[in-house]
Amino acid sequence: MTESSRYPTGRLICASSGDTYPDTEPRWRSDTGKLLDIDWEPRFDLDLICRRKGTLWRYREAIPLRNDANIVSLGEGFTPLTDVTLDGRRVLFKQDQLFPSGSYKDRGATVLISKARELAIERVVQDSSGNAGCSIAAYCARAGIACEIFVPAQTSPAKLAQIQSYGARLRLIEGSRTDTACAALAAAETTYYASHCWNPYFLHGTKTFAFEVCEQLGWELPDTVILPVGNGTLLLGAYLGFKDLIRAGVTQGFPRLVGVQAAACAPLYHTFLSRSPGTLPKAGETMAEGIAVEHPVRGKQVLAAIRETKGTILSVSEEEIADSLRLVTAMGFYVEPTAAATVAGVRSYLASATGRERVVSVFTGHGLKSTEKMLHMFHPTAGGR
Ligand SMILES: *Cc1c(COP(=O)(O)O)cnc(C)c1O
Repeated sequence: MTESSRYPTGRLICASSGDTYPDTEPRWRSDTGKLLDIDWEPRFDLDLICRRKGTLWRYREAIPLRNDANIVSLGEGFTPLTDVTLDGRRVLFKQDQLFPSGSYKDRGATVLISKARELAIERVVQDSSGNAGCSIAAYCARAGIACEIFVPAQTSPAKLAQIQSYGARLRLIEGSRTDTACAALAAAETTYYASHCWNPYFLHGTKTFAFEVCEQLGWELPDTVILPVGNGTLLLGAYLGFKDLIRAGVTQGFPRLVGVQAAACAPLYHTFLSRSPGTLPKAGETMAEGIAVEHPVRGKQVLAAIRETKGTILSVSEEEIADSLRLVTAMGFYVEPTAAATVAGVRSYLASATGRERVVSVFTGHGLKSTEKMLHMFHPTAGGR
C-alpha cells in the first residue's frame, strides 16, 4: 500500500445528471456546465485525531486529498468554541475570525488550493465580495500559485489591500456582485476556477466546522447551529460535515441548521418562506457586504440542507445588525459587520426558541477587515464611509 492510498479520495459527480469524472482532472463543473459534488466515503480515527496538532488537518482521513506532500497550510483551524451570553442566554461561538486571513474562508481555501497543487495547477481565478478573495490569495501565495481575484469595486478597502499584499492580481468590477461573478466566469473559460461557490473542494474544507464543533463537544452534537447564508458555503459545508460524521458512524442525526440573511438581500429567505421562486423584492444595500448575494450558485442545495435538518432561515434588519455589532464588540469580540448579522440572527432565534437547546454559532470575519465601516460607526468624526 502506498502512502497516498491511506486516504480516501472521491470521484467528482454531477449534482444533476449523476455523471462522474475522475478527481485527477482540473475540472470545476460538469461537461454540461452543472455543479459538481464529490462522491465520497469519509473516515475518522478518533484516537489518532485527538493526538494531532490543533489544525483542521487533524481530520486528515476525512479530507479528499491523495498526498500529504500537497497540503498547503498556514496552520489554520480548530478555532476556539467560546461561551457568550446574549440577552441572558448562553450560546457557543466558534471564533472563525481568528483564521490566518481573518475569516472562515480559510477552511475552504486550504483544501481547495491543496487540491490545486495536487493537480499541478499553476494559476487560478476567483471572484468574491472580499474575504474569499483574501483567503484564496493567501493560500496561493503560500503555494506559489498565480492568482487573479475579481471583486466588486465597492469592496472594503482593507480587503483590497489584503488581496494585493499577497501578490494576487486584483480586478475591480463596476456593478453588482453578479457582474463580478460573470467577469470571473468568463476568465474561468481558460483558467482553473478556484470559486468558493462552484468548486466542491472548498466545501470539503468548510465542512471541518462541523468536525471541530462535534469534537469540542466531546463528539456530541449541538441541537441547533446558526450560520450566515450568502452563498451558503459555510452552511452547506457544515451540512456535509455532519453528514460525513453520520456516514462514518461517529454521530447519529443532524443538528437543526438555521441560516441568517440580511433583510436587504434575502433571496433564499423569501424562497424558503413561499416555497416557490416567484418574484423577489429587489436587493438593497446592507452593511453585511459578505452575505449580499442575489443569486447564490448552490441555493437549491442550501434550501435542501435546511429542510432536511428541520431548520429555518431568518432575516435581520440593518438596525439589528448594527445593534449586534455594538453588543459583541463591547464584549471584546472585534468582528466585522457581516459577522454581526449572524449574531443578530442568533438573538432573533433565541427570542422565540423554547426550552434548553444547545446553540452553536460563529464569528465569521475579523473587525480589522472593515476598518472604514468601524470608523464610521464608532468614531464618525474620523471619516470613513
Ligand atoms: C463569506 C462570508 C460570509 C458568508 O458566507 P457564504 O458562503 O456567502 O454564505 C459570512 N461572513 C463573512 C465574514 C464572510 O466572509
